[in-house]
Amino acid sequence: MLFLRNAISNLREAAAIFLPIKCLCCGESCGKIVCDKCERKTVAVTPPYCGLCGRPLPPGVRFADDCSECRDGTPLDSCRSPFVYAPPIDELVKQFKFNGNYAAGDYLLKAALARAEADRELFALFPECDAIVPVPLHPIRRIRRGFNQSEHIARGFSRLWGMPVSKSLARLRNTPPQSKLSKQERMRNVSGAFAVRKSSDARGKRVILVDDVMTTGSTMKECARILKEGGMAEVHGLTLARRV
Ligand SMILES: [Zn+2]
Ligand SMILES: [Zn+2]
Repeated sequence: MLFLRNAISNLREAAAIFLPIKCLCCGESCGKIVCDKCERKTVAVTPPYCGLCGRPLPPGVRFADDCSECRDGTPLDSCRSPFVYAPPIDELVKQFKFNGNYAAGDYLLKAALARAEADRELFALFPECDAIVPVPLHPIRRIRRGFNQSEHIARGFSRLWGMPVSKSLARLRNTPPQSKLSKQERMRNVSGAFAVRKSSDARGKRVILVDDVMTTGSTMKECARILKEGGMAEVHGLTLARRV
C-alpha cells in the first residue's frame, strides 16, 4: 500500500515536468507553484508579538513578555511561527497535508527557513537548543498519509541549526482531526494522546517541538506538558503558521 502510494507520488512528480505549472492558490499558469501576486499576500509574523507564545499583537502595542492567552501559564518556554495562517500559506498547508503535494511542502519549508535566516530575532533561542521533536501522527494515520508533515519541517530546521531530529514522542491514540472542534473539545481530544518514548535520547535537554499549524495551541501545550513530565529541560514550540 505504501509502495503504491509512493509510486503514484513519483508518477505525479514526473508528470508535473511535462505539464504547465499553475499557481496552487489562484490557478494562474505562471510556471511557479505560487504566483507573484499570491506570494505578495503572505503575512509574516513581525513585531509586536507576544514574547512567550509568539502571537501577533495589535499594531502600536509595545513588546510584551506575555499576552492574555498565555498569562494563565503554559508548559511551552516559548513558541514561534514565521507566518500567519492566511492566504497563500493556508492553501499550501492544506495541499501539502491533505493532498500529499510535496512541491507545496517544499515551498513552505523553504519560505520558513528563509524567514528564520532573515529574522534571527524571531527565533533567538532556537539555534541554542539540542534536538528537534516533531509532533507524531498515529501510526495508522502515518501509513494512510504516507508521510508526517511535522517530520518534514523538523528535518529542514535540523539541517539549518545543525541539531538532530529526535522521535521522542509517541502518539497513543488516533484522535479525530482537531479542525472542526471547539477550544475545549480540542483540549479533551489530545489529553493523554501522547507519551515520551522509553528510548528517548532528549531527556534533560532543550528541545524544539515542531508542528505544522498552531490554532488554539492545545496539541503543542499537551505535547510540551508530556515532554516536561518526561524530563526535557526546556520545550520551545515551532509551527510553520499560526492562526490569529
Ligand atoms: Zn496565484
Ligand atoms: Zn502569549
